[in-house]
Amino acid sequence: PLILGLESSCDDTAAALVRGRDVLSSVVEGQNSLHAAYGGVVPEIAARAHAERLDLCVERALDEASVTLADVDAIAATAGPGLIGGVLSGVMMAKALSAALGKPLIGVNHLAGHALTPRLTDGLAYPYLMLLVSGGHCQFLIVRGPQDFTRLGGTIDDAPGEAFDKTARLLGLPQPGGPSVEIEARNGDETLYRFPRPLLDRPGCDLSFSGLKTALMRQRDQIIADRDGLTRADRAALCAGFQAAVRDVLAEKTRRAIGLYMNETPTEPAFAVAGGVAANMAIRTALESVCINFGIRFTAPPLRLCTDNAAMIAYAGGELLAAGVSHDMSLQARPRWPLDRRAAPLVGHGK
Ligand code: ATP
Ligand code: FE
Repeated sequence: PLILGLESSCDDTAAALVRGRDVLSSVVEGQNSLHAAYGGVVPEIAARAHAERLDLCVERALDEASVTLADVDAIAATAGPGLIGGVLSGVMMAKALSAALGKPLIGVNHLAGHALTPRLTDGLAYPYLMLLVSGGHCQFLIVRGPQDFTRLGGTIDDAPGEAFDKTARLLGLPQPGGPSVEIEARNGDETLYRFPRPLLDRPGCDLSFSGLKTALMRQRDQIIADRDGLTRADRAALCAGFQAAVRDVLAEKTRRAIGLYMNETPTEPAFAVAGGVAANMAIRTALESVCINFGIRFTAPPLRLCTDNAAMIAYAGGELLAAGVSHDMSLQARPRWPLDRRAAPLVGHGK
């Protein structure tokens, strides 16, 4: 079936057409310029922009896929979690289209969209292990089905991308911080300055990154106090030390997560890392070698399908539809919606 997907939960308005694992089109309209002056996403501005742009995104997606609304078999929209105004815009649009076309409506969890992306891009079999690692997220999930996720652990404070961004800010490097820190780190000695490896002394898969920022700030201030300023070499060494700490912690927690996952003897064991931080070559290489050591498949979906998009929502909608899930007009937009049902039972509108 041909699924139209809508995404509007944060600051990207997106529409896509997906058939099975085929992405016919994926249109993403960012809102960076609208929010730039405010230093963050302004929910009211985002909601209005989504409402104004969804129509056009759908039109462009149909155009690029060379199909018409009449060809669409079902409409999937992000129903949460996210900024409620934006989520509402997408859900309302999906309801209107569903009613007008007489085609099924499917409310999709945005995080499920991210978590199912390795099936869209690499065709991974259930269950697989996933690490979502971005500017806003860091968690390990065992993905067992389109509605069946087990969270093994995650960050108890900052997300790693956020830590990269703060590091760049503290060292006067351009944003987004991840790429600038990675480039600096290439010329730095990672052993010159000491960074902690937070939570490695504790069992389990939880992570913490806020202490790295404190360690960085302390050492930067010490260098400046001792020598009246940071040299290029200092900056490179601080970046290298920080990045090595993030790399080591992610690699060790991935080992533990794989250990838990392998206890379930998956038939086609696989690990996927997704999110902006997965673009970091040092981190990616470390995670890949952990997988090689365990003899399990390593995948990392392309970045354009890891950042917010509607193709992942349409794909997830297709899987849900195949599993017999669809929703009626009582489908609600949910600001909070944890993936792991043990964390919060899903009450709702599934048929
Ligand atoms: P969310 O998960 O809430 O959508 P987000 O919008 O920040 O968060 P992404 O676009 O997936 O998600 O990731 C952006 C983050 O990834 C930024 O914090 C950025 O610094 C980080 N990042 C990008 N490239 C790199 C890199 N090469 N190394 C480390 N971090 C990186
Ligand atoms: Fe997202």
